[in-house]
Amino acid sequence: MAGIYIHIPFCRQACHYCNFHFSVSMRNRPAFIDALVREIELRSDYFKGKAVETLYIGGGTPSVLGISELIKIFSALGKCFELEKLKEFTLEANPDDLTSEKLMSLRQLPVNRLSIGVQSFHHSDLRYMNRIHSPVQACESIANARKAGFDNISADLIYGTPGMTNRMWEENIMQLIEFGVPHISAYALTVEKKTSLEYFIRKGRADDVSEEQCAEQFDILCRLCETHGYEHYEISNFCIPGKYSLHNLSYWTGKEYLGLGPSAHSYSNGRRCWNVSNTSSYIESLEHDMLPLECEELSPVQSFNEYVMTSLRTARGCDLGHVRKEWGEQMLAGLEKRAVKYIERSLLTREDSHLLITRQGKFLADGIAADLFSDS
Ligand code: SF4
Repeated sequence: MAGIYIHIPFCRQACHYCNFHFSVSMRNRPAFIDALVREIELRSDYFKGKAVETLYIGGGTPSVLGISELIKIFSALGKCFELEKLKEFTLEANPDDLTSEKLMSLRQLPVNRLSIGVQSFHHSDLRYMNRIHSPVQACESIANARKAGFDNISADLIYGTPGMTNRMWEENIMQLIEFGVPHISAYALTVEKKTSLEYFIRKGRADDVSEEQCAEQFDILCRLCETHGYEHYEISNFCIPGKYSLHNLSYWTGKEYLGLGPSAHSYSNGRRCWNVSNTSSYIESLEHDMLPLECEELSPVQSFNEYVMTSLRTARGCDLGHVRKEWGEQMLAGLEKRAVKYIERSLLTREDSHLLITRQGKFLADGIAADLFSDS
């Protein structure tokens, strides 16, 4: 399965916790669209004619783009890639952009999945995060999307904001469940380096994030989603049966994908490439018909570690048969040895030939996976 990701590096307002590549200035937007179209053309042989099955336009905030800009991007893709078998076309959107008019205009494209950045239905959380939308807009965006015929909706939530009680967090989750949103992505608030949030906390102008609160709220999330029939198919992702994100599943299962736009990553056959994380440099490079990317071949150890990290985050877990086949007996024996202490502490379990994270282990998944990495 082949997938394309496009990064749109513009947002209306900077969220305090965000460390993605974006700009709130729209000055470069026309030049960016031209550069993106040029990149699409220059990368047209990436899949060598293989059908593209998933397309994901993320960012940044893709919903700030006008319909004519989105059509221009999609037409360029259609000229350069085989899109006849496209199964999933996701567009990320912020609630304040999802007016009825905007949603009706999106119907001109074969978008069949919306990923809405709700984050919270509470004013105090939205203010702490410096989100641009209100709780009312968050509710309306979901209702408007439904009215416009978008049923395949994913909503993002963030937990662990200081001041968010467990009761408020339960309300956020239940609001989505009651709306019948089929897919929920929920992330613990993390304080990334060089973000406004890190600065404000350091200066005592914002309360710090508590790991204990995050762990408790992750537990509430798992329990509520499970009770209401949502499958916990990846550490941060829950869906009603069958409503997985096909695009994200392809990342987690090591399928090839092409990333377009500044800061986007691509992967194919053990080779990883990443575009420059600067929109002006990205535009300038493409104006000279140069791809603004760097690449590296993953060593067997790097690809093993990547497999351990991503597979342990999924409900399917780490396939030990696959490890033996791809990396040999010695790597398998090392992994099994390092896993013992986690199995003894009930943070990992072994079922058939798979290593799985247990409910208690899930909140610690990334740390456990890192400890299972091979260093030679
Ligand atoms: S809208 Fe998304 S990408 Fe933009 S600043 Fe906020 S979190 Fe970051």
